[in-house]
Amino acid sequence: MTLTLNNLPPLRDVLQKHDLFAKKSLGQHFLLDLNLTDKIARLAAPHPVVLEVGPGPGGLTRSLLLAGAEHVFAIEKDERFLAPLQDIIDASEGRLSVENTDALKVDPATLTDIRPMRICANLPYNVGTKLLINWLTSSPVFWDRMVLMLQKEVAERVVAVPGSKAYGRLAVLAGSIVHGHISFDIPASAFTPPPKVDSAVIVLDILPNDKRFADLKTLGQVTAAAFGQRRKMLRKSLKQLANARGISLEEWLEKANINPTDRPETVDIAGFHRLAESLPPLG
Ligand code: SAM
Repeated sequence: MTLTLNNLPPLRDVLQKHDLFAKKSLGQHFLLDLNLTDKIARLAAPHPVVLEVGPGPGGLTRSLLLAGAEHVFAIEKDERFLAPLQDIIDASEGRLSVENTDALKVDPATLTDIRPMRICANLPYNVGTKLLINWLTSSPVFWDRMVLMLQKEVAERVVAVPGSKAYGRLAVLAGSIVHGHISFDIPASAFTPPPKVDSAVIVLDILPNDKRFADLKTLGQVTAAAFGQRRKMLRKSLKQLANARGISLEEWLEKANINPTDRPETVDIAGFHRLAESLPPLG
């Protein structure tokens, strides 16, 4: 029988056939329920090119192709998955390409010239935040939407609003580049093997060019100083940044229209942009 995307064997059989057990060191927690992977894939596809990091046995990969991703570029570190992924390459008549490497070591923008890419992944917990930050700070931006499964706690930090406990550096960075929301939660029990915590699917849509904040480096310096001493007032936590540049802290805060006695969690994203814009470069 010729294999097509619709008659590939169930994922449990694929794991068994290739003797694939989950490796904790690679953050491997598989989604074997294709109804669930279909629901996630529909948030990303149809689309001409989708980047998937960590396809593993390929449940989400199959769903992306079935949902109308014209081509999926996948990056998978664990070579044990190359054989099952080859079956998907064959069944999709070459609409899947797989790079067997560490996603932290490749620039996904080099995989294809087609723009914008769309990113969809059930990310390994151990490198998920790092990958997200790499993609948010990529220049030029090569994607238009990310659909990511992350630990719920991390997803909440990405979309947190000022005044909330989860609001911090990640929310300010993300809110400077994307408009994001949590689409739905996924209980730990949906994964094989189940992780210790629940997950959530976040959808991050790139902001129009003129709404994105350009100087992410200075913004990062300001938020690192402010949230590094979260409980302190800004007149304390930002003092060192001002001193290093030989400027008056009071004047800087006044120019940025920021109250010196505020704490960082009460400053909105636009406030952090003003702080970064009015901070002169070092030297
Ligand atoms: N997408 C599959 C699913 O939903 O069932 C597997 C998801 S599992 C949470 C994470 C996957 O990322 C694993 O297949 C793992 O081998 C892979 N992985 C872990 N670290 C990686 C890295 N640095 N680069 C690329 N892939 C990685």
